[in-house]
Amino acid sequence: MAGSTIVFSLSDYNNYRRGVTEFNRFHVALHAAAAISRERGPANSLMGASDAQRPEFTAALLESRKQTDHDVALLETIFQTEIGASPEMRSSFMAVKAQLQAGRAAVDAAAATPRSERSGAKIAEAIQAMFRAADRAQDYRDVAGRSIIALAPETGAEVMLTSMAGTLRERAGRVGSYVVMMMTSEGQARSHYRAAFNSELNRLFEVNALLKTYAPATLESKAIAQLLDQVTVNYFSGSLPYAQRVAFGLNGNNSPTPAEFTAKYVPGMKSTEVLRELIEETALTSLETAREKAFNTMLVSTLLAGVAISVVVGLAYLLGRSLFRPMLAAIRQIDDIAAGNLAQPTPMPHAGHEVREMFQRLDLLREQQRLKRHLEMERKSMTEELRRLSQTDALTGLLNRRALGEAVGELLTVPRGGSRGIGVIMFDIDHFKSINDRYGHLVGDLVLQRAAEILAPCLRSQDLFARYGGEEFIIVLTDVTEASAQAAAERLRETLAKTIINEEHQLTVTASFGVDWRVQCTFDHWEELAIVADRRLYQAKRNGRNLVCASDLPSEKTTAPTAGDGDHGSGGADAA
Ligand code: GH3
Ligand code: MG
Ligand code: MG
Repeated sequence: MAGSTIVFSLSDYNNYRRGVTEFNRFHVALHAAAAISRERGPANSLMGASDAQRPEFTAALLESRKQTDHDVALLETIFQTEIGASPEMRSSFMAVKAQLQAGRAAVDAAAATPRSERSGAKIAEAIQAMFRAADRAQDYRDVAGRSIIALAPETGAEVMLTSMAGTLRERAGRVGSYVVMMMTSEGQARSHYRAAFNSELNRLFEVNALLKTYAPATLESKAIAQLLDQVTVNYFSGSLPYAQRVAFGLNGNNSPTPAEFTAKYVPGMKSTEVLRELIEETALTSLETAREKAFNTMLVSTLLAGVAISVVVGLAYLLGRSLFRPMLAAIRQIDDIAAGNLAQPTPMPHAGHEVREMFQRLDLLREQQRLKRHLEMERKSMTEELRRLSQTDALTGLLNRRALGEAVGELLTVPRGGSRGIGVIMFDIDHFKSINDRYGHLVGDLVLQRAAEILAPCLRSQDLFARYGGEEFIIVLTDVTEASAQAAAERLRETLAKTIINEEHQLTVTASFGVDWRVQCTFDHWEELAIVADRRLYQAKRNGRNLVCASDLPSEKTTAPTAGDGDHGSGGADAA
């Protein structure tokens, strides 16, 4: 919008600038036409002069011609391009020059004829030749005016009014010339000139009426209105009635000579000349004023456009700083919160009031999310703890029976590397009741805890160790051979038997072990192995305790304790 405002006002200014330039060129065309018209005055005077007056009028005519030649030469220079390019302009210009030459030749011929031989017809012919030169000049003026209006349409009214003012001056001149022609002719010729005089008079009134109607209003000039009044006084109520009186009283005796008439008539016409100049000047001033106005409008619109652009840029910057950038930051924060990134973001110092409130809400949301996360973690750890507790035997920290069942089930459904076989070891502390009885349940509990602590390090990380109930334990070994399962049971038995399990009472205990081993996938339920191991455990008890029983046969497969393994024969757990 700002750009188009500037472009419009710039083109407006350019139009008026061109208008002023073109009108100045038109002025040259007007001037040349006026000069040709003016030349008729001294020419008429010379042709009507007595021999005595000749040198004076010849000098005046030469001077006037010099001026005309100068104006016509200037015209040629100023319209050089058009004369070169447009056939209409060229032929019109050539017609001006040719007709001027012909007119001057006719005037010179008439003036060169001695006074006595100089006929009115010859003079009239010369005057009419000069009329034609003026006509051609006016034609050229009109062609130039049209070309200028085409170039700068803004000058239309000014060109028209100035042309009309020129025409008024021209017609007033011709009215005078017709009077001279009537003076120097007789009979039919005189009647002819009178008719021409009347017709010229009508045109004169028409042009004057048009000028009075339009010029002051169009050019907004009181001076023109006043000058038009002056034309009415000086010319229409002065020179013109004088011309009419001379024209109609020609048969009387005290008729003026052409020179006398011209001398009296021409000054009253002066106001038409001044009017033409004033209209021309006012037209130019009005175009110049319009040009200045357009220039100022252009400046103001450029300034306003600059201000508007600055305001828009400033607003965009402020909006960007206080709204758009913070909004983008808010979107990023929302994305972060959604993605679980709850780190406190850097604050946006220039955010607008509403956006700051949004950030506060986001902070609140973030805080709530943190709290939620914290609670979630607590819930998780509590669940984990609960799960652990539900799987763990509270006294020994070993797996409880249920958890063992789950763990073994999982082990068997998910195949792992190495599958030599599965071994189940069950053991039961010998004569445990007597510990309770002798040292109390608390010591009994401590013994159970220590037994688990002592034996757990003897197992591999993949082995499962659980309290089966009371003082009975179970171990599930994966990926073992039958021999290594048995050896493991033996190692456990020995370790337990030789370790002082209670420092305070210097206690040692023994346990009886039952072992079963199967190749994987040769049983339906792992509990089958536990049943067998349990049965063998009781076999070991029956066989004398502190023994490992790995088969259902009563004696061969039972490992006997070596010397120093404890007092298994005499009743189990005991003080060392
Ligand atoms: P055996 O060699 O035949 O196994 O004899 P035993 O005395 O160990 O066996 P018995 O079944 O007669 O006695 C087991 C005792 O273990 C009975 C019970 O009071 C005790 N007991 C079971 N669970 C616990 C426990 O958690 N803590 C304590 N202190 N004693 C327990
Ligand atoms: Mg027991
Ligand atoms: Mg028992």
